[in-house]
Amino acid sequence: MRGAVDLQPDPREAVDFGPFTQAAPLQIASTRTYTRRPTRQIRVGKVPVGGGAPIPVQSMTKTDTRDVQATVDQIWALEAAGCEIVRVAVPDADAAAAVPRIRSQIRIPLIVDIHFDYRLALLCLEGGVDCLRINPGNIGPTWRVREVTKVAAERKVPIRIGVNAGSLEKHLLQRFGEPTPEAMVESALFHIRILEELNYPEMKISLKSSDPRMMIEAYRLLADQVPYPFHLGVTEAGTAFSGAIKSAVGIGTLLAEGIGDTIRVSLTEDPTEEVRAGFEILKALGLRKRGLNVIACPSCGRVEIDLMGLTKEVERRLEALNINRSFTVAVMGCAVNGPGEARGADIGIAGGNGVGILIKRGQIVRKVKESELADVLVEEVKALAAKEEET
Ligand code: SF4
Repeated sequence: MRGAVDLQPDPREAVDFGPFTQAAPLQIASTRTYTRRPTRQIRVGKVPVGGGAPIPVQSMTKTDTRDVQATVDQIWALEAAGCEIVRVAVPDADAAAAVPRIRSQIRIPLIVDIHFDYRLALLCLEGGVDCLRINPGNIGPTWRVREVTKVAAERKVPIRIGVNAGSLEKHLLQRFGEPTPEAMVESALFHIRILEELNYPEMKISLKSSDPRMMIEAYRLLADQVPYPFHLGVTEAGTAFSGAIKSAVGIGTLLAEGIGDTIRVSLTEDPTEEVRAGFEILKALGLRKRGLNVIACPSCGRVEIDLMGLTKEVERRLEALNINRSFTVAVMGCAVNGPGEARGADIGIAGGNGVGILIKRGQIVRKVKESELADVLVEEVKALAAKEEET
């Protein structure tokens, strides 16, 4: 019996799945686009960064750079995962000596990561690299930065001025008392001015912190002061789960404000996971399209199929197909949001009682038994990809 509150009818009663009606394709409201901060464009090898270019996803190897084979293998795995620019740590002269051998065996642009010893930067520049990352907080006296910049300019190699809240210059820490967004910006500006004095604007800037709030504020502060592209990241973010969330908050907030030209998600994980997380952030904001986008409802008391099992199986099987098409696949539990979301996707199902309604590009196709749903979804995605390949 209904009380004073006028309850809505149970949607399962309201939506008749059989014979089901042909619904009109869902009209998707225009999605918001972000006005990106105008920046100079630089090139990291063949990849443009800034100036409105697509936002490249970067990662960093976790191998010992001196182990050329292991590092090259990891870079190939990263490229297969979609990584567009890769960085390697260069802690000593042996690692610097390995850099040219690594670079000659890979296809994506290579950045070397230099701390403390500016001579390693010079060695890498001689060996041939696509970009140099230096940390202003530990590279030492200004003349060293000048020296490195002069050689980089001769070889037309861009420089990332990579400020890190955890390794700011001592005098800044003394003045500000602790790492702050203002101290990070001051550190960056000091080094930006050195490159500008040398008439070398081929740079990008990062202002990383393990605290997303601090990095957000630092990038915002610097955004209006310089025209250079920004590399975004939350440093030491953590494991796959917490690190991806922190990165999505820090990087995603800035991207949604139009700030950011390239990104790296730092995870205590296999680096290919960093790439996956990076693309998920960009895809969530509509800034990049790559691979399949599986959307699924969280499931609730209304669901009458094994939605979690089905979603995991579909995601696993689709990932293994490695289809490089930007389709959206919707796995929805019931008639509440199911038909609407599934109609907005390329392929989708909306669950019913032991069945699912297959919906293709807005059109209801047929009813499928629960036990066949995973197979049918995968086959439909394969067929759609094959059809697009023909055209
Ligand atoms: Fe529940 Fe999923 Fe249906 Fe939403 S679509 S009501 S989460 S079963």
